[in-house]
Amino acid sequence: MPKRLNLIILGKQGAGKGTQCKRLSERYAIPHVSTGDILRAAIQADTALGRSVASVLDSGALVSDDLVIKLIEDRFQQSDAQDGALLDGFPRTIAQAEALEDLLGEDGIKLCIDLDVPTELATQRLSMRRVCQECGSIYVETDVEAISGTCSKCGGDVIQRADDYPDPIRQRLEAYERDTAPLLAFYESRGLLVVVNGNQSPDDVTVAIQSVISIRGLA
Ligand code: AMP
Repeated sequence: MPKRLNLIILGKQGAGKGTQCKRLSERYAIPHVSTGDILRAAIQADTALGRSVASVLDSGALVSDDLVIKLIEDRFQQSDAQDGALLDGFPRTIAQAEALEDLLGEDGIKLCIDLDVPTELATQRLSMRRVCQECGSIYVETDVEAISGTCSKCGGDVIQRADDYPDPIRQRLEAYERDTAPLLAFYESRGLLVVVNGNQSPDDVTVAIQSVISIRGLA
């Protein structure tokens, strides 16, 4: 496998980025780096970082570029990220994308997948989503785990994320259109963007992404 298989998975909240990144991370043996997961873990652990960002995450707004860029710089120092990473939820602004180029060098990013779903579907998926606070497993509101509130994989509490309520969902999708959608043109101009239809079964999405990776000779 080529060194530094750094892939960006872009797409609206609810597009299925987390699910796909978990699968791709196993398939290509590179870590799934989600800035949202890092921030939520800090909140859960009640660290100084967590306390400083908790209300921002609850509202659905973005935290500052400087803060997340520092988190990513630290994450790329870790040994498991030396052969690459799957970036989920980062970059989210042009300033973050430029900082990432500075960090990884001009050809550091090999591919940017845009998991494309309509806004109505993203809204529907987010409002039905329930997550395990311990292991991060994702359920929908009609699953037995969501109804009982207990994760069948680890016994952790299954909850509705504070930012998966209607107002924060609206905020997050507006932030996506305003701050993150411009990244599509940014990566397209570098020949790195491939759009994958996210409105199909998770298995079909995985197959589509893997074939792009293989056609591009990345793995
Ligand atoms: P996510 O799980 O990716 O939807 O992220 C959850 C929340 O974490 C977002 O609504 C933001 O408040 C914050 N966040 C995650 N990644 C970033 C980022 N790259 N830039 C700014 N805020 C972020």
